[in-house]
Amino acid sequence: MKHIILGNGPAGVIAAETIRKNSPLDEILMIGSEDSPPYSRMAIPYLLMGNIQESGTYLRKDASHFDKLKIDQLHGKVKALDAQKKQLIFEDQQHKPISFDKLLVATGSVPVRPPISGIDLPGVHSCWTLEDAHAIAKLAKSGSRVLQMGAGFIGCIILEALASRKVELTVVEMGDRMVPRMMTELAGGMIKQWVQSKGVQVFTDTRVQEIIKSGSALSVKLSNGKTLEVDLVISATGVKPNIEFLKSSGLETNTGILVNEHMQASHPDIYAAGDVTESIDFSTGQRIVNAIQPNAAEQARIAGISMAGGHAQSIGAMQINVLDTLGLISSSFGLWSGAKGGDHVEIIDSERYKYFRLEFLGDVLVGATTVGSTEHIGVLRGLIQSKTALGEWKNHLLKEPTQAMEAYLAKAQAQSAWMN
Ligand SMILES: Cc1cc2nc3c(=O)[nH]c(=O)nc-3n(C[C@H](O)[C@H](O)[C@H](O)COP(=O)(O)OP(=O)(O)OC[C@H]3O[C@@H](n4cnc5c(N)ncnc54)[C@H](O)[C@@H]3O)c2cc1C
Repeated sequence: MKHIILGNGPAGVIAAETIRKNSPLDEILMIGSEDSPPYSRMAIPYLLMGNIQESGTYLRKDASHFDKLKIDQLHGKVKALDAQKKQLIFEDQQHKPISFDKLLVATGSVPVRPPISGIDLPGVHSCWTLEDAHAIAKLAKSGSRVLQMGAGFIGCIILEALASRKVELTVVEMGDRMVPRMMTELAGGMIKQWVQSKGVQVFTDTRVQEIIKSGSALSVKLSNGKTLEVDLVISATGVKPNIEFLKSSGLETNTGILVNEHMQASHPDIYAAGDVTESIDFSTGQRIVNAIQPNAAEQARIAGISMAGGHAQSIGAMQINVLDTLGLISSSFGLWSGAKGGDHVEIIDSERYKYFRLEFLGDVLVGATTVGSTEHIGVLRGLIQSKTALGEWKNHLLKEPTQAMEAYLAKAQAQSAWMN
């Protein structure tokens, strides 16, 4: 049996290792298009901070790790999949088409490039690959003027790295708050205040309209009437599943590759895992793209077992967002923006940057948002994931929301089947 793993990020690597563990004799070939060994994008901020060298981003530190597991590696960019012939076609002529018995597509996401005049100028970079990180490191020097477009998940994560490089930083976000797709209005507003208190200029409800070359700098025109001169623009306006190359493949896609609970795509011998998928949301049963690394790892484990002929299935992708924005920890889970017909409770302490909100549907906790504390994170996740009927504990929580641990111990522990 020949397995091809297309993509060598966290999803590809975990799937390849899982197949090897379950099928010691099968042939496994992992393909990646970037110049470096398999690495973790999550480690890029630490590289920018100077806390690690490039080798610190590598997913497996032992250079012979994949050889020892008899996982072959190939460097090349695939430009098309012929699902009917079960073949991958490469961009360059040097590589002949390759056939597979089973294929995993784990090609991740690509950054969204907003249609702004000047977006392709030198000095405008995404922060997605190691190559991007090196380009940013060259321009983001102490005292450099940096404009970051977008204050979403990735945007907030890289703020710390940029701040540590002592740049003069401006963040421009078109939403009405920071992290609008992960945080409630109050929580996002609190994060904005925190970031401003650390010396970062933040414009929300503002768009970048145009970027023009201005001598050795860039002149950036904003929708609020201001024009800023900067040395570097970082485009962090979101990512989308990397599926362009699948256009003529016959595989069913929407925003991402549609997969079932075994991570199987619309062809019985083709699977997908990680950022590239559109799977089922645990909370709503609707399709969702959940582009975070824990999701990639879990889907890869399930895909690997399934491809090796075993049985594993997903309970659905749960939204779990934990964010560190210049030292302020925030999190959101499940239906954090509320469920139709549900109710909620909220505690706000703006002065101390603390926020806690629970969302209920009936007597079940379905979502939560926190700012400024980490102590409840595991318990909130557990209560939401277990769909525990809280009974009288719901009323306790409405009065004292931070008693989540007590509610968990009283109700969810007794019903621990979800953990098995
Ligand atoms: C700066 C930064 C910080 C982040 N921080 C966090 C965090 O704190 N927490 C978190 O959960 N997530 C974080 N993420 C997101 C996380 O990195 C992704 O969710 C994760 O990388 C997804 O893994 P993946 O294997 O699906 O895709 P990827 O890691 O994107 O890997 C896909 C691989 O496929 C290869 N590939 C793509 N197309 C082709 C092709 N046509 N031919 C051959 N090879 C191809 C790519 O080169 C790449 O190596 C961060 C991302 C960035 C950029």
